[in-house]
Amino acid sequence: MSNAWYALRRTIAPWRFQELADEVLESLPKAGVDELIAKIDSEEFTHGQPNLEWVKKYCRKLKPLKQTLEEKGIVFSLNPWITFGHCDRGRDGSVNIPGLQTMVDWTGIQDKCCACPLSPAWREHVVKVWTEYAKLNPAVIWLEDDLRTFNHRPVTISCFCDLHLARFSERIGEKVTREQLTAAIIKSENPHPWRKEYLDMQRDVILETVKIMIDAVQAVSPETSFGLMSSGPRAHCMEGRDWHKLADVMSPNGKLISRPPLGSYAECSLRGLYFTADSIKITRYVLPEGTIEQTEVENVPFTAYSKSLNFTFLQMAASYALGCEGVTMNLFDHCGSTMADDPDMLQMLASEKKYLNSLAAAAQGPARQRGVQLLFSTKHGYNKHLDNAVDASALAANDYWIAETLETLGLPTTYSDENVKATIGQMLRNYSDDEIKQLLSGGLFLDAVAASVLFERGFGDYIGIKQIAPPVCIDDLEPLSAEEYHNKSFGGAKAKMMTLTVPNLFSRPSYSQAQLSDKAKLISSLVDPDVQRKYPSMFAFENSLGGRVVVHLLDWTTACGSSFNNHYRREQLQNVMRWLSRDTLSAVVPDNVFPLLIRRDLQHATIATIFNLTLDPYPQAKIELYDQRQITDIHVLSPTGSWQCSKALTVASNKNHHSILYSKPLDHARPLAIRINFAQ
Ligand SMILES: [Zn+2]
Repeated sequence: MSNAWYALRRTIAPWRFQELADEVLESLPKAGVDELIAKIDSEEFTHGQPNLEWVKKYCRKLKPLKQTLEEKGIVFSLNPWITFGHCDRGRDGSVNIPGLQTMVDWTGIQDKCCACPLSPAWREHVVKVWTEYAKLNPAVIWLEDDLRTFNHRPVTISCFCDLHLARFSERIGEKVTREQLTAAIIKSENPHPWRKEYLDMQRDVILETVKIMIDAVQAVSPETSFGLMSSGPRAHCMEGRDWHKLADVMSPNGKLISRPPLGSYAECSLRGLYFTADSIKITRYVLPEGTIEQTEVENVPFTAYSKSLNFTFLQMAASYALGCEGVTMNLFDHCGSTMADDPDMLQMLASEKKYLNSLAAAAQGPARQRGVQLLFSTKHGYNKHLDNAVDASALAANDYWIAETLETLGLPTTYSDENVKATIGQMLRNYSDDEIKQLLSGGLFLDAVAASVLFERGFGDYIGIKQIAPPVCIDDLEPLSAEEYHNKSFGGAKAKMMTLTVPNLFSRPSYSQAQLSDKAKLISSLVDPDVQRKYPSMFAFENSLGGRVVVHLLDWTTACGSSFNNHYRREQLQNVMRWLSRDTLSAVVPDNVFPLLIRRDLQHATIATIFNLTLDPYPQAKIELYDQRQITDIHVLSPTGSWQCSKALTVASNKNHHSILYSKPLDHARPLAIRINFAQ
């Protein structure tokens, strides 16, 4: 069995079925593919809501294919293209489901095809259709990411149809209109009690809908497992998703497969891999331990015109470096083209299998994912204050930039427990006073908004703040030029200036004016055009709980981006995190620009994988690995998949950390994976 499990998501177009089925049978073993996930009624040729007779006829075609695949040792699974429906694309769902109630968004616009999950006609239909799917006894049936109550129309949440309004009215015991309900949901200041009730209702509706589909499959094929495609936990805050309850409903036989999205559906920049890695980590964090992860490697709208082979390979390598069990691959179009039309893709899959197998085998299993710990709560949509919100999508969490910024500056991140934690925005609203005190007794990094939340909650004395104002654009204060990083004990110096034209040439950040405790140590200041220090920018504080706090008085959601990052910023934040952790940080990439470092601590070894996310090769790569254990041996993974000693690798150790130097050039095309064994 492959460690680097390949599961190909493929549409066998009905009008060219035998030819494409024969190709699958011939090509998959050669490319190292372990599983075929047959997509049904997908993408361009979808009928909208599937027609029951069409489904029956199509499943009859799939049956012999499934049998032949299994004879060849290839697992067969199903991926119906829709659950509720992704979008309309001119389809009318009531053609195949008479009496269908479709979704209504929060402004009152109604979809023509996407089903409201409360629709009785849809529920009846979906049971019949999923029963047909189940008759194929697939190993896994996937529930697509249209299993959600947002994105059915751009950037809005659903559903506010009459059925939903009636159910909501019943829950609160009074009749409510859509206008009243949506106004309450995005009400600023303290969240309105109806918001919680609405999110709870959305959560319950999803759970009950999923149960209907799972039960329909279970009744026919009890050994079938289920897969969950999701849209990222930050987005699911918009609908109050309870991930553990959903996982419970979806794993009647104790097994759940998760497909986290990896972003970069079409290639933009190598830096898209930061989102890829973060999405795997944060989705893992919200699901129960033991969930099987098969990431979503997807090239849309297909061929090398959309995404290079190399980028696809790098997303696969990142998945396995993070210890995932497999990848699902949506790499060929759904218009009935043959895979032979894009032969380089199959060749890449085949030629990289050994390398990925070795990487996966080393990184899989119980392990601790290391880095600066980022905070996340699935309750964010419940507790977030929506000042100035223009629509209900503001319920999503907007703190992704802390992950990308720290990673960019050589500081790996994790959602697992670590002694140094960092958070921006309003995430701390989801934590109790006791939990916050616990956080304040360790090492904690905050931006202006996070510090304001703690001040408002009465924790000013613990973070070195006597008074703090809401963030405003720095240009509303007075003419300001730069952030001077001047504190020598944190690596600064006079005239180390960082631009305030952030996050890019056309923007300026927001800043909170604050009155600091006398014991706060200033790390950097905002200076005016005459280089006068006018406002504190970043400061460090040691509190009465024995904890260490660093606050950056910029609002990071307005500051992080291309021009926020530079060599001084890297030095500043690396030194800050070292200080917060009391030199027990997990790992740092001290010198390289745009690294992605993944550190996994397994029982007997650490796997450290470093990606170069620039087009410039690193002349050499260096990792500071904080660990007091003695290293016994160290190997690099060769492109052919064997772990080898390398003269290019040297280690210099001191009390707190090992400096691992790889003295050969490292380009973007393949990460450097290192296996480090420690004395037991
Ligand atoms: Zn509805």
